[in-house]
Amino acid sequence: RAKNRGKNTFQFYTADMNASAMARLKLEYGLHRALTRDEFQVWYQPKVDLASGRLEGMEALVRWQHPEMGLVSPVDFIPVAEECALIVPLGAWVLSEACRFTRQLQADYDFSGRVAVNLSGRQLKFGNIVDTVQQILQDSGLPASCLELEITESTAMDSDQEVGRALEGLRSMGVTLAIDDFGTGYSSLAYLKSLPVQVLKIDRSFIADLHQDKDDAAIASAVISMGRSLGLSIVAEGVELPAHRDFLRAQGCHMAQGYLYGKPMPAEAFRRYVQTFEAQG
Ligand code: C2E
Ligand code: MG
Ligand code: MG
Ligand code: MG
Repeated sequence: RAKNRGKNTFQFYTADMNASAMARLKLEYGLHRALTRDEFQVWYQPKVDLASGRLEGMEALVRWQHPEMGLVSPVDFIPVAEECALIVPLGAWVLSEACRFTRQLQADYDFSGRVAVNLSGRQLKFGNIVDTVQQILQDSGLPASCLELEITESTAMDSDQEVGRALEGLRSMGVTLAIDDFGTGYSSLAYLKSLPVQVLKIDRSFIADLHQDKDDAAIASAVISMGRSLGLSIVAEGVELPAHRDFLRAQGCHMAQGYLYGKPMPAEAFRRYVQTFEAQG
């Protein structure tokens, strides 16, 4: 009987695997098609200077408008795009879209902010990223000083020589480099300081409860003060409440990004957001 059950379990497992492999294949196929069918969009989320309340810039966040599934979250498709290498052309598309949009904002409004674009490790290793960025800046007319590239803490920890070389190349072009989701990996600030990085983004998991959790508050203020003393610019992500803002400002955090200031929004809506900011002076 045990043998039978084992067999049934095995059959069930196989069927299950086939189903998920099918779903996965469909997603992969859909992703490849999406790039040629123009189904991706870039949305923008404001980033605000905590001391002055001024709009400092925005983060570009990709969205997939699937014909049947509707809006798909990058949390669901970026990992797949990374595995099937589609992240290289997709990432380049996001970059060029974001640079073009930002250049247009500068032309139309009194906007001098920076746009931050997420890069995955694969783009740094195999994407010929330095040439790609240089070409995109040239085509869009956006100054390198107006582009910030975000890499996650785990990508930054990758000791691959190619990653280090790519970061040095980007930095020497005048692009700003940021460590994203800081605190979720196991890197030390001392190690990060050996990289050509200027900005540290504290992961939102430390921000959410800092007004009621002493440990999170302690971690956030330690990161802020150590980061500051290393000359880094500190951004808090996931700032949702006035209590978050007040705490972070008191601790000397430079910038904030989160629902308190605005959710990620389509390009046209962000354009209106900039207009409103400009009108307020
Ligand atoms: P991320 O780079 O850490 O981006 C911040 C995420 O936090 C965004 O999720 C944003 O919508 C969300 N967020 C911002 N403020 C708040 C807040 O106040 N509360 C809450 N609950 N969430 C907030 P999103 O847009 O779903 O993106 C998820 C992740 O997908 C990004 O995390 C990034 O790792 C990845 N991603 C997005 N676009 C790209 C891209 O173009 N390329 C690559 N490689 N990754 C991307
Ligand atoms: Mg990011
Ligand atoms: Mg982040
Ligand atoms: Mg995060």
